[in-house]
Amino acid sequence: MSLKKNNKEKHIITILLRWYRYNARKLPWRKKRGSKKLLNSYYVFVSEFMLQQTTVNAVVFKFNEFIKIWPTLKLLNKATETKILRFWSGLGYYARAKNLLKSIKIIANQHNYIIPNEYSKLIQLPGVGDYTAKAVLGIAYNKSVMPIDANIERILARLYCITKPVKDKKLLVEVFSKKLISKNKSSDLIQAFMDYGSSICTPKNPKCNDCLIQNYCLAFKKNLTHKIPIKKNKKNKKVIKFTRAYLIVNEFNEFIVRQRPSTGMLQSMIEFPNDLWTNNKKKLVSDKFINLSSLKFTKLNKKIIYPFSHFDLHIEIYATKTKKNNFKRYKWVSINKLNKSGLPTVMKKIVNLYLN
Ligand code: SF4
Repeated sequence: MSLKKNNKEKHIITILLRWYRYNARKLPWRKKRGSKKLLNSYYVFVSEFMLQQTTVNAVVFKFNEFIKIWPTLKLLNKATETKILRFWSGLGYYARAKNLLKSIKIIANQHNYIIPNEYSKLIQLPGVGDYTAKAVLGIAYNKSVMPIDANIERILARLYCITKPVKDKKLLVEVFSKKLISKNKSSDLIQAFMDYGSSICTPKNPKCNDCLIQNYCLAFKKNLTHKIPIKKNKKNKKVIKFTRAYLIVNEFNEFIVRQRPSTGMLQSMIEFPNDLWTNNKKKLVSDKFINLSSLKFTKLNKKIIYPFSHFDLHIEIYATKTKKNNFKRYKWVSINKLNKSGLPTVMKKIVNLYLN
């Protein structure tokens, strides 16, 4: 439900909708269809999962590839977790892939293959939080809601000149956002805000001189656009974790790989054997398989620091050669197939460092 709007909000909505008509980004999940000109809800649903924690530019290519393999919800419902996890390589945050598949299976079984158009049903799906539920409702079904992504949050913080860290002012942002909900053109307006934030009201150096809503922007009036949105000081330094990775290569240029556990980081992904990640380098314990293998490894001179969202992983790399017959029961992947094997990016970096 939208709050009563005054002229300021009405004008902003009209201006942004007009701007969007000529300046909308051409994104593959935005193709309209049917007499009501709604977007394909399956496309929107998939894109919203991909866009959680990943930029639009990085998602576009992967989305197109995804839709080539699974063009419909029915086909995605038949996919295996292994296949979708392998596909997800490069996007990171693999829990999203698992949740997407779980959600699709629930939608197939409980909602007759139709993405729900009610908040109460969407919010129960795995991996769907308040933002994603509202994004699907607003963008795919034109419902009067406002999902607050980083672009929208920034525009609101500037329009209403929120001079406290936005993280502490979420409720206030939400109150302002409700004034800017469209009754009939919610889908276009949400996307207009997102596009406006990515091209005009940008995080750094917003293009205020080209801005069509400059007259309504309190941060501009107070010359505070470079300071808002205010970020909270990060008190804690990023945590560091340590591991050692082991590359075992045979006479056919194949590497031993294995599957990670189905919980925790990089769930069910393929990896090279490595030690349990620990916060204290001195407490690293050699991987059980490596211990039992009796292989002699050489330590590489270079190491990798791989940034995850909550910690940096420091990885030392060890390598050795052996005969395939010595480890017949293990899974080997050819050097030529490593890129398509579904290795997560961190593992690709490890092997690339070894090969180059
Ligand atoms: Fe953003 Fe500048 Fe426009 Fe304000 S005037 S909304 S800061 S681009």
